[in-house]
Amino acid sequence: MSRAKLSRERSSTLYRRACELMPAGVNSPVRAFGAVPGDPLFIARADGAYLWDADGNRYLDCCGSWGPLILGHGHPRVLAAIEAAVRRGTTYGAPCEAEIELAERVIAAYPGLELVRFVSSGTEAVMSAVRLARGFTGRNLIVKFSGCYHGHSDALLVSGGSGLATFGVSSSAGVPPGAVADTVVLPLDDEQLVTDLFAERGPDIAAVVIEPLPANAGLLPQRPEYLRFLRDVTRQHGALLVFDEVISGFRLGMDGAAGFYGVVPDLATFGKIIGGGMPVGAFGGRREIMTRLAPLGDVYQAGTLSGNPVAMSAGASALRVLQEQKVHERLEELGRTLADALAGPAAKAGCTLVRAGSIFWLAMQPEAPRRVEAVDGRGMQRYAVVHEAALEQGVYLAPSGWEVGFLNAAMQAEEVQKLGATLAELI
Ligand code: PMP
Repeated sequence: MSRAKLSRERSSTLYRRACELMPAGVNSPVRAFGAVPGDPLFIARADGAYLWDADGNRYLDCCGSWGPLILGHGHPRVLAAIEAAVRRGTTYGAPCEAEIELAERVIAAYPGLELVRFVSSGTEAVMSAVRLARGFTGRNLIVKFSGCYHGHSDALLVSGGSGLATFGVSSSAGVPPGAVADTVVLPLDDEQLVTDLFAERGPDIAAVVIEPLPANAGLLPQRPEYLRFLRDVTRQHGALLVFDEVISGFRLGMDGAAGFYGVVPDLATFGKIIGGGMPVGAFGGRREIMTRLAPLGDVYQAGTLSGNPVAMSAGASALRVLQEQKVHERLEELGRTLADALAGPAAKAGCTLVRAGSIFWLAMQPEAPRRVEAVDGRGMQRYAVVHEAALEQGVYLAPSGWEVGFLNAAMQAEEVQKLGATLAELI
């Protein structure tokens, strides 16, 4: 049953004010509701599974700040850790014990990780991992895949064309051709193209960088044998395999996509969940590679707020809860609950529910694509209609059909069932 149209007057007033001060009124582009109808909602507060906008409307939060909030908003133990940390000082610019606890937890959980370095965002993590891969191998070429997002550093801001290996043309103005000249973009899910590229340029390739569970152009789960192939081919040619686990890390399980698929990369990058909702990023790998970082080695990398004590305490606390309470098992059950309610109706409506644990994406096409070139762009308009109607029903989905949804541990089974039923009605 549809409710009367919600008032979003205060959000719209705030949005107009914000637009006078910040480009499109936002500090990250997708937030501006460019791909869906209406003005962006301004959020006044959040608790558990819910967001409240500035007009007092409540929404089940399926965006979860784009991934970090696996425990929902304001988990009591994470909040307590943050409060206690803040009282001890917000930043020192010197080492603190919380860094050790988070490092121990990340290293113990993730396969093949011997050393880790913390930074302040996912962008920084991948940018630094790429520099390290280049420094370690003494090579320049980076291979990435179209549809995979690795943050907005110059060298990685390339999506490239479909079908053939394309030397990078940046998808953003302001990136000089030289910055992407050593980035090669390939489509996902094609062993032959990778084999051919290595045959031609193998000695120049520093690293293959991939989201092992691509989640930035819809959700595009890869064949496990494809990931194993990437592991083998990089090893054969002395290139590094870099898994960007900024979304999948600690989301698919404590051991991320590496554990899920049984493929161990040389370097892995993290963000989101490991900061417990505070700004964070990290990259890590084998000792032999990581010791090339300054001050031990010749690859420079640094940060004023890196290893921030509040973020480290929040992250350590979140990982502690995830592990102690076996949260991933519960999230898998919630994911199944969503699938039970939604997969059938989606198929009837010509859509596909793509799901990996607590990550979901409604593909507006009958089959789940494995590469971005196979995503039917017309689905984005359909998604925009669903998005607006979902808001009316008190469900906050990410404001773009290219984005995935996240379930979180603050959600109850009944809420997820209802979410499934609501979306089933709207598609
Ligand atoms: N890598 C991946 C896989 C991401 O999804 C993102 C952001 N969503 C980033 C890197 C960049 O992270 P950040 O926005 O924290 O810079």
